[in-house]
Formats: sequence, structure tokens, C-alpha cells
Amino acid sequence: MRKKKFKAESQRLLDLMINSIYTHKEIFLREILSNASDAIDKLCYLSLTDDQVGLDRGDFAIRIKADETARTLTVSDNGIGMSEEELEENLGVIANSGSLQFRRETEGSAEKDTDIIGQFGVGFYSAFMVADRVTVITRKYGEEQGYRWESAGAEGYTVEPCDKERVGTDVIMHIKSDEDEPDEYSRYLRPYELRELVKKYSDYIRFPIRMDMPHSRRKEGSPDDKPEYEEVMEEETLNSMVPLWQRKKSEVTKEEYEEFYRQRFGEFSPSQSVITVSAEGAVTYKALLFIPSRRPGLYGTEDFQPGLQLYSAGVMIMDKCADLLPEPFNFVRGVVDSPDLSLNISRELLQHDRQLKIISGNLEKKIKAELERMLRDEREEYEKFWQNFGLQLKVSAINNYGARKEQLQDLLLFYSSKEKKLVTLSEYVSRMPENQKYIYYAAGDTVDAVDHMPQTERLKDHDMEILYFVDRPDDFLADVFGAYQDKPFRSATDGDLELEDEVKHEETPSQQEALAFVKETLGEKVTEVKASARLKTHPVCLSSGEGLTFEMEKYFAAVQPEMGMKAKRILEINVDHPAFAALETARITDPERAKKYAQVLYNQALLIAGLPLEDPGSYTDLLCSLWQ
Ligand code: ADP
Repeated sequence: MRKKKFKAESQRLLDLMINSIYTHKEIFLREILSNASDAIDKLCYLSLTDDQVGLDRGDFAIRIKADETARTLTVSDNGIGMSEEELEENLGVIANSGSLQFRRETEGSAEKDTDIIGQFGVGFYSAFMVADRVTVITRKYGEEQGYRWESAGAEGYTVEPCDKERVGTDVIMHIKSDEDEPDEYSRYLRPYELRELVKKYSDYIRFPIRMDMPHSRRKEGSPDDKPEYEEVMEEETLNSMVPLWQRKKSEVTKEEYEEFYRQRFGEFSPSQSVITVSAEGAVTYKALLFIPSRRPGLYGTEDFQPGLQLYSAGVMIMDKCADLLPEPFNFVRGVVDSPDLSLNISRELLQHDRQLKIISGNLEKKIKAELERMLRDEREEYEKFWQNFGLQLKVSAINNYGARKEQLQDLLLFYSSKEKKLVTLSEYVSRMPENQKYIYYAAGDTVDAVDHMPQTERLKDHDMEILYFVDRPDDFLADVFGAYQDKPFRSATDGDLELEDEVKHEETPSQQEALAFVKETLGEKVTEVKASARLKTHPVCLSSGEGLTFEMEKYFAAVQPEMGMKAKRILEINVDHPAFAALETARITDPERAKKYAQVLYNQALLIAGLPLEDPGSYTDLLCSLWQ
């Protein structure tokens, strides 16, 4: 029989497993048990609609068998099993997204590698931490032929047909001999130790995990006054099977929640928040939700699949039910279990299920309340959350013309020019002096860039707080929201800032002519050239007036470049600045030079606005020509 090689990425992980530098070897058992439970889940679900399965909910079980003499530990399930192709596909390659990340993050260092093993649910391969050979005997539901997969690790694996009486899978681990310390591996063959491990890591698995345990029994016929005992093996169910979400929050430890979160969702960092819901009424259900403390691997890409696991009375009916999760909170992970949902419901129908809508609406409120609590009581934690998922809240707040404005507006954070940190809109408004009519904001690419924007100068001079809109959706947000608590938004780059002591600038006739000269020189490139009321020390800036802003223009340039959406370009000039005075003079003495000055002013204004120069090469030549 030809030995097949593992795919490259699996090879590396296998090497790590076999050399087992990771100290928590014991987690292999929970990985194998969780695979068995998943396989049963699948067949159990099928059995609801397919009489051919011939098994009831109560017939499903996982069995552990330890043979100390042969040094084998076997985990058997009567789940869905694997076909020949699936064996190849699933056990010949690590295809999950976690492993991709694994490769990216572990470039090089062995130390990091060990971390990663602990962090990711590495699944089946972890068996090689304790076994020098693993045999998998499996038969897929609906097939007659069984298959036997075997591997002693790095050299590869074999697959061959074999007989298997029942549908399901046996994973036989040939346990390593103790090397460095007594009992290093032998402990994984002893019933008591195995029972401990099951309790520790897999207690809530919803199918019975059974094993023969030694029990002391009185020998039959032994006299009453001198009873004799013998040790017999009796099958015992090791796990309590009560899912975590069915237990009262007060009875579950934080560690138990986190262990569940890690295992169930393949996460390695603890969650940021745990939300439990127990509802009775229109729909009865329990939910256990987690707000992650980091962005899931594919989050923000099209490949990310949001959704909660959906159970009906303990049977999983869907792994990622997106309809349960409101859009703003699509990062939440968790489980919903409701006896009211019909088990036979088809997946398409599910999408329209009224009960789901009710649940989803309730969860939305619960999640929002938890975020509000964090914002109020644990600001630092909230800001960590915000770094991960704030953008999602902002995008959701503006989607559908701000349909969720009311719901989300108080969860949003913006950088404040005054506080030099993130603030909420309500904090901003509560600090507004009485005569301030607007919520001022300035949009740009980064906090630093906005901080140096000439347009913010006068506002700062008037001691006005400015919100820095540096996230993509922000500019749309001002437009969509219009106002917050009746205070309209106003951009620092918008025409009139309506500051109290704003003096209307009276230009001299010469200045007016110079402004007209600049407009004439720049032609169609600018909509208007005018003396600025807000510049103090800077010579020039661009504003966009009503309509499309520069940040929107940049956004459209990135996502829909073919549309060529452009904001208006109003060139505002500080007519008191020496640069303009030089232009004014040159217009009379050397008009060609004055034209160059006009070009420079315009291009500088583009740079400040973070807009691309139209022709950087010519501009550099032009600038250098002024040296001559
Ligand atoms: P993961 O469980 O994270 O997908 P694993 O390496 O643990 O990764 O397993 C890979 C795949 O092999 C599983 O997704 C599943 O399809 C299959 N598999 C593993 N164990 C079993 C089993 N006992 N019964 C059926 N399929 C299994």
C-alpha cells in the first residue's frame, strides 16, 4: 500500500505535535471528543428528517476504551462517519482558517509555535502529542464500505478499505511509552485520570461519554460476616451533559465559560464579555453570548460568516444562523437554544421564522445593554472593544439612511481635540458652551493629519472642541445623522463656522484682483477662490462647501473609481499671509511668476486635504523653478 504524504502545512503542525513541546498535552482528549460530538450532531440532525438513520436521540453516544496492556486509547462514536474522500480531505490536510493564521503568525520561532498550539483548537492532530500511531476506522452514513486510515506521524498516512459493522468512527490512539518522566503518557490509559479529563474539559458535551470504570462489588455468595469484594468493570456516563447555557449563571464559573468559549469557537484569548439570556414568554429560549476580545480571523472580509449556533431542545440545527444576529453586532459568538423552534424546519424557512425574529430582537437589546454597561462602568474595556469592532457600529449606524441612529448613536466614540482621547457624542454635547450651536468635526485620514489641518485653527483658537472624523464612515455619519440632540454637525471645512466674533474680512481692491487672478490661473480646477475667514497662520486650505466632502471623494475613489465622484474645490486663501502678499506684488511685476505662486497654493491645499496631486512631476519642476 502506498503511503501518502500530508499536505505541507499539516506536516509542520504534525512535527510540532509529535515533538510535543506543548505542555498541555491532555487537551488532545477534548479535541477528539469534540470531533466525535460534532459527528454525532450531524447524524442526529439527519435522523430528524430521515427515517433510514434508525437511531433516536437517546441512542447516540461516545465510548472511551482504554487498554493498558495494548497501550491503546479508543474513542468511538456512532456519528456521521467519513467517506474515503473525506478521510483524505479532513485528516490529510489542515484546511481550516485557523491553520492559515497559524502559518502567518508562527513564522520562525519555536516559542511562538508552542503558544499557538495552545491557542488554536488544533483538533485531530493533537492526538499525536500522546500517540505515536493513530488509526481511524470509519464508515460513513449511507455507505456500506468502511475505511481505515493510519499514520505514525510525519512520514504520511495510509487509507485502505476495511470492514466496519456500524456507521461511525473509532479513533485508536497508540499511546507513547513514557520517556522523560514516569507516567508521562501512561496516565492517559487509566480510567480515573481519563474520567477527570472528561469532567474537566468535556462535561457539557450533550451526548453521553461512556467508559468502563472499575467498581468494587461484593462477591456473590460470600458470607455476610466475612464479605469478599471483587473489582468489576461497569459502564459509567462520565459527563453531566447539561449544556452550559442551561445552567444558572451563578452556578457557572468564569473559567467554565471561558473554556467553553475557547473550545466551541476555536478562540484562544478569553472573551471580553459574557452575556446570558434566559427568556420565557412569546418564545422560550436560552442564549449564551460572547463578545470577543479580538477580531476573528476573517472579520471584515467577505469570507467572514457571522451567526450564532442554533439549537432546538439540545439538538443543533444550524451552526451559523446569521438571522439571529443583528447587523451591528455581527461579531458576537454564541449559542441559542429554544424548545419552541420546530426541529423539522428547513433552513430556508428558518430565515423567515417569526420566533427567530423575536429572539433576534431581544438579543439585540441585551447586547446593546451590555455594551452600554461597559461604556459606563468599564471605559477602558469598552475602548478595547471599540478598537476591534467600533467601525462595525459606525457602519451600521449610517446604513439604510441611519435607520439605527437612535439605537447606536450613544455607543459611538470619536477622538476629541480637547480631551485628546475618545469621547461620546453625549459627552461632547454636555460640555458645549451655551452659545455653541454646532457639533464641530474635522475629517481626515489620521488624528495627526486632522490635528494639523489649517481649517481647525480658528475653531481651536475659539476653544471649541472638535471631533476628529478619521474612520471611513464618519463623514457619511454627519450627513446621515444631521444632528445629535438637536445640535447639527458642522465640518471645520464647511463654509461659515458661525463663530461669535467672526469678523467679515474686507479685502482691498488689490487683494480682490489678486484673488480673481488666482481663479483665472487655475481655471476649472477650482470652483471658487476666496479670502478665508478661518485661516490664521496657514496660507491656504481647500473646502468643499455643500454636498460631497473630500473624505467621501476618497471613499468613492477607493470603492467606485469609475464614477469619478469629485467634491467641489473651494480654494480659501489667507489674504494676510506673506505668501499671498508676494503673489499680489508679483501679479503686477512678474505675472508669470505670480501664476506659479497660484499653482503652488493650490497644490499645497490639495496636499493638506490629503488629496492626490494632479501632476506631481510637473508640480515639483514648477516648485524648483521658483528657486531660480
Ligand atoms: P476541526 O474539528 O477543527 O474541523 P479537526 O482536525 O479536529 O479539525 O478535524 C478535521 C475534520 O475531520 C473535522 O472537521 C471532521 O470533518 C473530520 N472528523 C474528525 N473526527 C471525526 C469523527 N470522529 N467523525 C467524523 N468526522 C470527523
